Amino acid sequence: MINIFNLLMYFIFPRTCACCGRNMPVNTVNNICEPCLKSLAKNDGLKCVVCSMPLKDGGEHCYDCRHSKIYFNFLKTPYVYTGKIKKLIHSFKYSNRLFLAKDLSKPVADLIIKENWDKETDMVIPVPLHFIKKFTRGYNQTALLAAEISKIIKKPLYENILMRSSYTKPQFGLNRKDRNENLQNSFSINKKHESFLKGKNILLIDDVATTCATANVCAELLKKSGAKKVLVIAIARTEL
Ligand SMILES: [Zn+2]
Ligand SMILES: [Zn+2]
Repeated sequence: MINIFNLLMYFIFPRTCACCGRNMPVNTVNNICEPCLKSLAKNDGLKCVVCSMPLKDGGEHCYDCRHSKIYFNFLKTPYVYTGKIKKLIHSFKYSNRLFLAKDLSKPVADLIIKENWDKETDMVIPVPLHFIKKFTRGYNQTALLAAEISKIIKKPLYENILMRSSYTKPQFGLNRKDRNENLQNSFSINKKHESFLKGKNILLIDDVATTCATANVCAELLKKSGAKKVLVIAIARTEL
């Protein structure tokens, strides 16, 4: 049923698709139109069985999963980081389009449910943003995403267990070893809440999985504090 107030609001401020700018149907709660949503690049082709990196030529594991120690159990994403989803995530992260948290968390939650990860999960934890970045940006987009996901799958959200301990130096220009060290020093577990992690299955939320190094460092810390399983979910996975 079309509510009169919504109808009036629609004519005054028609809701437009955050992706293509076309007017959205009256009374919709979404911010991305159906055609745009359908056209986003799905990560459903050949990919690494552990980290979901698209592998055009097939194969079980990507280079990183074959050659480095991976602490998370699996990482999955509904989309590949390219085209329209890249643009949407960018405007969610840097242009204050916080309302996209709901739209972007829906396909992520659908994948969690499809994989039965919702049943396994004991707690939802977002990858933290350093407080200086949070302060300058005003919000942690990953925490917003995690809050939506926690509501949909009805599992508790813990934002204060995994912490960003120091301002990460830009990763650019560092070699692989230094990059890892730089990352490792920038996360920590809040000792006050560490006991919560014993034997728990964690669903770790990230926005974009680029190298997976961040997810891996977080997973390492969570497991060393007693977590049983760390499943990582992000909106999109970058290609090689
Ligand atoms: Zn659209
Ligand atoms: Zn992999």
